[in-house]
Amino acid sequence: MEKVTYDLHTHSALSPCGDNDMTVNNILHMAVLGGVQVLAVTDHNSCKNCPAAVEVAKGLPIDLIPGMELCTVEEVHVICLFPALDNAMAFDAYVHDRLPAVENRPEIFGEQRILNAADEIVGYEPYLLINATSISIEEVVPLAKRFGGICYPAHVDKSSTSVFSNLGYFSSDWGFGAVEIANRQKIEELAPKIPGFGELLVLHSSDAHYLWDISQGENFLFCNNFRRALGLY
Ligand SMILES: [Zn+2]
Ligand SMILES: [Zn+2]
Repeated sequence: MEKVTYDLHTHSALSPCGDNDMTVNNILHMAVLGGVQVLAVTDHNSCKNCPAAVEVAKGLPIDLIPGMELCTVEEVHVICLFPALDNAMAFDAYVHDRLPAVENRPEIFGEQRILNAADEIVGYEPYLLINATSISIEEVVPLAKRFGGICYPAHVDKSSTSVFSNLGYFSSDWGFGAVEIANRQKIEELAPKIPGFGELLVLHSSDAHYLWDISQGENFLFCNNFRRALGLY
């Protein structure tokens, strides 16, 4: 077993709420400086900065997992992670079709920058990414699996966009194998409300929207193989 430091929830400049300094190079270099060994880039309803992130990670001592923070029809945030870029981009195309065709208004919500590996802007996502998709919470585990990925509810302790804030309960029928709890101090309070809690992998990540929020080694897991521990093959 080895100790693996991770941050599986970060937003790039593609998320309208993500700072424009959250370029792929800045995120990855900041994570490396902070001692993070495994990083996922998880923009709202999009994986379109994952190709650049994967490219940049090739030159760095870090394992980049392509991901997305999906917003379900119930407005519950779910972290989706994929073993490889191809899986993530196929999922991205699927999710894009299930996102309302509502144009982003950058002056209100922020820009949605698509970057290349040199941090140059190569495009802007036209549809507002923070809207709810038409994908339900019951649908999301088998759906991610269909694309070779895994998923689990994000920040379940948060007072908005979480399973507890929006649905009021956590069902084992949804099939999640992990759960993200933002504040470790909430574990004792939440554990009894989560059926089968002992079987779930409990994860903590930064949900960074700004560079200074990226984890600095405080989130770790003891395991033989981190990706296998997550169920990513
Ligand atoms: Zn969220
Ligand atoms: Zn987030």
